[in-house]
Formats: sequence, structure tokens, C-alpha cells
Amino acid sequence: MPATPQPRPTILSIEPYVGGESKLPGVNRIVKLSSNEGAFGPPPGARAAMAEAAAEMHRYPDGSATALREAIGKRFGLDPARIICGNGSDELIGQLVLSYGGEGTELVMSAHGFIMYDLAGRYAGCRVIKVPERDLQPDVDAMIAAVGPRTRLVFLANPNNPTGAMLPASEVERLRAGLPADVLLVLDAAYAEYVTRDDYDAGAKLVDAGTNTVMTRTFSKIFGMGGARLGWAYAPAPVADVLNRVRGPFNVNAPAMAAGIAALAEPAWVERSVAHNTEWRGRLSETLRGLGIKVHPSEGNFILADFGTPARAKAADAAMRQRGLIARAVAGYGLPHCLRITIGTAEECGMVGDALAAGFARADG
Ligand SMILES: *Cc1c(COP(=O)(O)O)cnc(C)c1O
Repeated sequence: MPATPQPRPTILSIEPYVGGESKLPGVNRIVKLSSNEGAFGPPPGARAAMAEAAAEMHRYPDGSATALREAIGKRFGLDPARIICGNGSDELIGQLVLSYGGEGTELVMSAHGFIMYDLAGRYAGCRVIKVPERDLQPDVDAMIAAVGPRTRLVFLANPNNPTGAMLPASEVERLRAGLPADVLLVLDAAYAEYVTRDDYDAGAKLVDAGTNTVMTRTFSKIFGMGGARLGWAYAPAPVADVLNRVRGPFNVNAPAMAAGIAALAEPAWVERSVAHNTEWRGRLSETLRGLGIKVHPSEGNFILADFGTPARAKAADAAMRQRGLIARAVAGYGLPHCLRITIGTAEECGMVGDALAAGFARADG
């Protein structure tokens, strides 16, 4: 055997990311509820802006994303100089880990935290420490206790995917206060817009309060623009400086930026999406509970349904698939008895309830 190039050893411990499924053989109408993409698709203005931008596709984009950063800053009341845009927030998560982590360092996350932190941590060569939870809630004291002298990064998705769990602002502040000053806390607020509890803060306050907390956000969920790949981070000046050094010079494409600016100009569209999500997240949760299925409280645009056993979860998945409904299996998160189901349109939520009612009636009879 001739010698072949070998990657760093930790690279081969990474399982390739598997996105939510989108096809079922033999089923005509597919309802994709596997990637939390937003019930209504992209806002009309964003579609139009992207189409218009197509004519200028031969031009390189503005590498500093000035207009988009200003639009984000205005909408959320943040300093545009400390906003960094990315090709999805996943890109920024990866760059934070590569910049602050690496071989010989540790990254701390909650046991059922978003899987990207694990993947990015391995890519960078970090030891990834997953801290046990209590009833799928991040345990702040245990996370603080897990931090050692090699820990460089702590990740918290708030609300978390796939559990839907949310920590109140006071708990996130307690986490920050319990971490050493030189540990970077990354607050991933991909689902911030969907939160209805009033004890929530997405993280900007903590970013502004020091030099060691970053907040990441995305256009992929509430704005329905996952395919455009657009995310951003709000960071203290030294962290913003690091991200601006390491990101690709043209990491965000021009059509996506145009669409993002247009989407921010349609707040009513977002309000409608939030109202819809709140209503149907509640209704679908109640329907499932009525069928004897445990549903974890969720502050996102999805619910985590707990069927008790992997076999029952498989049966539920099969009943939904028969009707074209694709949920997300979360065995990779150590939750083989659960399915994550995105809140779709009213009709789609009704289809989920019907499929599970039929599936369980059959299983019981
Ligand atoms: C979907 C998701 C993201 C990724 O968002 P992109 O901006 O599309 O890369 C980040 N964090 C969490 C918790 C998510 O669920």
C-alpha cells in the first residue's frame, strides 16, 4: 500500500452532518418538518430582492457587509461595528471554535446541546465535554463545575435545538458569572424570535457587559431563509476583530445580503410567524399530550415528542411517513425514543395530529 495523506486524527472522529430528510419514495406530497425552516417560507420582499440581485451576480459582494450590518444594528438596537455576518451562523460557530479552541483545549456544552458545537470542536481538535442535564434542561452549576484550566469555550443554545429548552436570563447571567473571565461564552440564539416567555434575553446584554460573551443569530429559522445561508454574530470588539481576520473575505453572497436586508424591513411578517408558531406549538403539544405522548416544553419552532421507547418512536415515525410527514429522528443526540417535529402550517400540524392518532390507535388495537 502506498502511503496516503492523513488528516489530523480527530478529523476522522467526526460523523458527517446529516441534514433533515426531504424525500420519501412513493409519496407525492412531502411535508418537511425535519429542519425547523419556518412555516411560511421566505418573506415576499426577500424573494424579490434576491431575484433583483441576480442581475448583478457578476459583481463581488461587499466583503464587509456594511448595509446588512447596519440594517441588523438598526432593527435590534446593536452596534453595527461589532456585528459579523456569516454564511449561516454555523460558519461563525466554526470560526469561533477554530480561533479560540484547538488541540489541547476543551469545549464545554450541555449534553443535548446543538450538535454543531461537537462537530466544530472535533474539527478544531478540542476535547468536547458534554455536561449531563436534568430532564433535558441545561444544568448551570454542572456546566460551571465542568470548566477546567484548559477550557476555552462554553456553548449554550438558548433556546436549545433539539430539546426546545430555554434558560431564563438570570440563569444565563449566573453561568457567565461562574465562568473564568478568559473563557468565551457563546450564546446561540437561533430561535430567539420564537420565545414567548418574558424572562428571556437573547444575549446582547451580556455581550455588551464584558469582553468574553458572543451571541449568534440566524436568518434560517424565523425568516425562512435557510437555503440562502445567512447568519450573524454580535461580539465584543476584540472577538469581532478575530472573526474579521479569519472569515473568508467574501463569506456572505450578495443575493443573500440583499434578501436579508429586505427581510428585516418586513417586521409584520415576522410578527405573524411568531403568532402562528405560538398558537400551533401550543395546539400541537396539547394534541400529542392528549394521545398520551410526552411533549417537552419548547420555546422554538419545533417540539420534542417523547414516545417512551425507541420502538414507539419508530412506529410514530412510520405512521407520519406514510402520510408524507418527515420529522427529525434524534437518536444521534442520544434520544432514540424521541422525534423532533417542526411547527408547520395549520394544515400540516393537523396532519401530524391525525397521523399520530391513527398510528397509535392501530398500535393499541
Ligand atoms: C439551525 C440552527 C443553527 C444554524 O443556523 P444557520 O444560520 O443556518 O447556520 C444554529 N444553532 C442552532 C441551535 C440551530 O438550531
